[in-house]
Amino acid sequence: MPVYTPPPTDFVSGKGVEVFDANGKRYLDFLAGIAVNSLGHCHPKLVAALTEQANKLWHMSNVYQTELQRTLAAKWVSVTFADYVFFTNSGTEAIEASLKLTRKYHFTKGKPDKIDIIGFDGAFHGRSYGGINAAGNQNYLNGFGPPLPGFKQCKFGDIDALSAMIDENTAGIILEPIQGEGGVRALEPEYLRAVRAICDEKDILLIFDEVQCGAGRSGKLFAHEWAGIVPDVMAIAKGIGGGFPLGACLATEQASIGMVKGTHGSTYGGNPLAMAVGHAAFDELTKPEFLDNVNRVANNMVQAFEGLKDAYPDLILEIRGKGLLRGLKLSIDPLIIRDLAFQNGLLVTVAAGNVLRILPPLIINADNVSEAVSILDKCFTTFKTSQNIGESQ
Ligand SMILES: *Cc1c(COP(=O)(O)O)cnc(C)c1O
Repeated sequence: MPVYTPPPTDFVSGKGVEVFDANGKRYLDFLAGIAVNSLGHCHPKLVAALTEQANKLWHMSNVYQTELQRTLAAKWVSVTFADYVFFTNSGTEAIEASLKLTRKYHFTKGKPDKIDIIGFDGAFHGRSYGGINAAGNQNYLNGFGPPLPGFKQCKFGDIDALSAMIDENTAGIILEPIQGEGGVRALEPEYLRAVRAICDEKDILLIFDEVQCGAGRSGKLFAHEWAGIVPDVMAIAKGIGGGFPLGACLATEQASIGMVKGTHGSTYGGNPLAMAVGHAAFDELTKPEFLDNVNRVANNMVQAFEGLKDAYPDLILEIRGKGLLRGLKLSIDPLIIRDLAFQNGLLVTVAAGNVLRILPPLIINADNVSEAVSILDKCFTTFKTSQNIGESQ
């Protein structure tokens, strides 16, 4: 179905931060499959894990258990606030599980009317009915019938507006500590701490969507760690599978009280192939030195972006984000720069509010950053030159 409009180029292979098209043209991948290829393309450890598992066991369904699933869940529990993990194949399924868990929690506590989920403007939670209703973006809701009951949207980053919206039927608050699609907007640590306090006071479950900003991308394993608080429920995906479709809903034992036998399920979720890759990805992402590299190279990248901003102050208005989830807010349509970058062998994407979004693999080095920034520099120069020609004609 023509729901996407990709450039007419077939991609055939990748290694680390590089990908190659069918004509053999090389691209530097600073999009990483939308924050998915956290370890770059064809990471040897992931390739080995997948091929080894492919010769052992592909699928059993959750009618039976595998040790791989149990031990990967235990690993994620060991490094987070969570007591339980439900594996999915995507981010939006992890969101669905989070929303269902939240309503079931209050139902189980004898409050069946406590169903309202508050989301925020600019949010993105995937394309399922639950996901689009939780995010409330009209562009994604239009044409799909009436919006689902029990979803509200609040102004981004405004604690008073949030307090005013909460009532006795507020079941959960869902937010991305750093919005991705919404323009690479990070919430202030003080704001996150204030939301945590409100949730504690009113028995509201706090759901973090770290599908994009999690798995080391912000420079901490999870972006909420910058604020020193934890959620009750968290959806993760993208970077945790390094390119294999894998997501998870993480929750505390208390938040999971309603998730008993028969409450939820998935045929493929936690499948042995995904678990094998998930183990290899987890082991890399949680190596002690791994995040040091993310933070070091992220600093290089921001410094280089500052240089670009100084060179093109009329085009680059602001540098946003944390770690290797970055946005350049432009005064022009970022699609122009994205397309010029593509021609020049650099993959980047865009986000809401005229933002050029940059999400390289977390394994990049300073040379990769210099190369990407010099390509961007060239793109901004090309744009300016074309403008000057336009003006003088
Ligand atoms: C990508 C994304 C999702 C949806 O994940 P899918 O795997 O595409 O279903 C949800 N939330 C956020 C923040 C995302 O970036």
